[in-house]
Amino acid sequence: MIYKRSSALFAEAEKVIPGGVNSPVRAFKAVGGTPIFVKEAKGAYLYDEDGNQLIDYIASWGPMILGHAHEPVVNAVIDKAKKGTSFGTPTEIETKIAELAVSMVPNIDKIRFVNSGTEACMSAVRLARGYTKREKIIKFAGCYHGHSDSFLIQAGSGAVTFGTPNSPGVTQGTAKDTLLAKYNDLDNVKSLIEANKDEIACIILEPVAGNMGCIPPKPGFLEGLRALCDDNNILLVFDEVMTGFRLAKGGAQELLGIKADIVCFGKVIGGGLPVGAFAARNEIMNHLAPLGPVYQAGTLSGNPLAMAAGLAMLTELNSGNVFESLAKKTEYLHKGLVKVLDKNNVTYTINRVGSMISVHFCEDEVLDFETSAKGNNETFKTFFHGMLNQGIYIAPSAFESWFLNDALTYEDLDKTIAACNTIFS
Ligand code: PLP
Repeated sequence: MIYKRSSALFAEAEKVIPGGVNSPVRAFKAVGGTPIFVKEAKGAYLYDEDGNQLIDYIASWGPMILGHAHEPVVNAVIDKAKKGTSFGTPTEIETKIAELAVSMVPNIDKIRFVNSGTEACMSAVRLARGYTKREKIIKFAGCYHGHSDSFLIQAGSGAVTFGTPNSPGVTQGTAKDTLLAKYNDLDNVKSLIEANKDEIACIILEPVAGNMGCIPPKPGFLEGLRALCDDNNILLVFDEVMTGFRLAKGGAQELLGIKADIVCFGKVIGGGLPVGAFAARNEIMNHLAPLGPVYQAGTLSGNPLAMAAGLAMLTELNSGNVFESLAKKTEYLHKGLVKVLDKNNVTYTINRVGSMISVHFCEDEVLDFETSAKGNNETFKTFFHGMLNQGIYIAPSAFESWFLNDALTYEDLDKTIAACNTIFS
């Protein structure tokens, strides 16, 4: 593969955009090399500026679940754009997508649209704090909820883990209200709750983690969190920015049968346009402005183009059997990868839930951030570049899940498995 034009474009971008990118993971820092500049995409394929065709397992980090430039979504956006792109007044389409989302997702009565997953999670936490009148939150190491200050927290020292900022610019004052727990470790959460009795507003987590590679919740983990929340008047917030409208119509709540109090969305719900949302039952959502005192707003929230893309996407997902089809394809890929990795004596662990899958180059079970970080990054780099050179585009970081899209054919999956074999044989 030749990446001459991508390299030149990256050099130009670096002069005027920090690191040449508008979101850090795109810069290939974890794997080295030059990011691919994409010119266009259709179905399961990306076409880069050098004319290479790549089988895409990133799907724009999740949203493109039906493949790129999916016609009903594109047509809906074009039709809307001709009629004006933003009004700053209510529009009927906002109610339509809200009605559809509320009908698809369990345990929610009302939904508020925002512009990103970050905004959704940030607003959900504010709502939880306003509703409970408490200030602290529990988050899990390795779960990502966007780049708002309360979430950019790492483990501090001490027996009871108080967070400390993991980015300059996040204040100690903010960090002290975020308690950090270990994913899949219920006892750890219990001790945090005990040490901060009646102070915790919410526990926020990815019900299936995707930001330390794909990590499923251990049996009983989410049930245990639900019970702890009920016993201590804490709200359980599911960040379904990745899993929402991807694992099932009703997301992880439906797939795993656990009820959350507030649910955050992003990615798929916007059909590839900048959309996030958060939702809950009336009792909680009615605390939001203008009904209640918890403030939250947005000039472009509910933007007609974004709502048109999202409505077209959700309508498609509500009518077909996409989730089954995707789960089958992902299982097929999983089995194929297992076969070739075993044949070549590679040390690995593969985690998979629905259409989320990741290959960890380590022996032990991967069930939290610590075990995920044990993966061999040198092997991952070899794997990533080996795949890329054969036209397979996976996430440029071992800490990211792959997202399958339903435009992928079994032939694409076979090519992917064969490419993996070539790397390690
Ligand atoms: N929550 C989760 C689980 C995510 O994976 C992400 C982004 O990857 C976010 C929140 C933040 O979403 P956004 O990048 O749209 O702000």
